[in-house]
Amino acid sequence: MELFNPLLLAYCEEHSSPEDELLKEISRETHAKVLMPRMLSGHLQGRLLEFISKILRPSSVLEIGTYTGYSAICMARGLAPGGKLVTLDINEELESMVREFFHKSGLSDRIDYRIGNALDLIPRLEGNFDLVFIDADKANYITYYQMIVERVNPGGIVLADNALWSGKVLVKEGDKIQKDTQAILDFNKTVQHDPRVENILLPIRDGIMMARKL
Ligand code: SAH
Ligand code: CA
Repeated sequence: MELFNPLLLAYCEEHSSPEDELLKEISRETHAKVLMPRMLSGHLQGRLLEFISKILRPSSVLEIGTYTGYSAICMARGLAPGGKLVTLDINEELESMVREFFHKSGLSDRIDYRIGNALDLIPRLEGNFDLVFIDADKANYITYYQMIVERVNPGGIVLADNALWSGKVLVKEGDKIQKDTQAILDFNKTVQHDPRVENILLPIRDGIMMARKL
């Protein structure tokens, strides 16, 4: 399902600060060389992530699902002085390409990129987080959320991408629901009923659940 009028989307992009050369290059290279380039955040979502991070000025950011590094670089641009972003991905095949992009961003000393299963890596991370971006395997969204929510500082923000799942969240009676769709439905419901956060589901791109820790 096309969630938005493509012409309106183009208009929004034309009236948002443009992508810089590095992000354009990451987008180009991802589309040319990497499977499933649709997963890349892209211009509008990247700008939103950068904006949220610049408003929040986080000292500690966690990203679950690096892919080609686009969203990590956007969020790292808002880090407070001395702040760090940890980004996790299970796909080791992209490692050298992603490290090169982080190097080019000038932020590689502030980005801690770790390869492995986030389920194993998260418990080994130290400290709390001011901003978390959940964007890995949908089946584990609730698990990731439960693993991190107690470790988000008051006023900190949890973002989860693909919360509208191409519109598949609109299920009708009798529909056969796919596993990932069910995972997203369960996740959105969990956040909606979690008294520890206030939340808003933003209808941007594929939907972003934004939860603020009370
Ligand atoms: N945040 C990126 C896109 C992430 S795509 C952007 O916006 O540009 C989702 C990523 O999650 C993929 O790169 C995939 O390898 C990773 N992933 C899937 N399962 C994972 C797991 N169990 N642990 C860590 N990463 C995982
Ligand atoms: Ca995504």
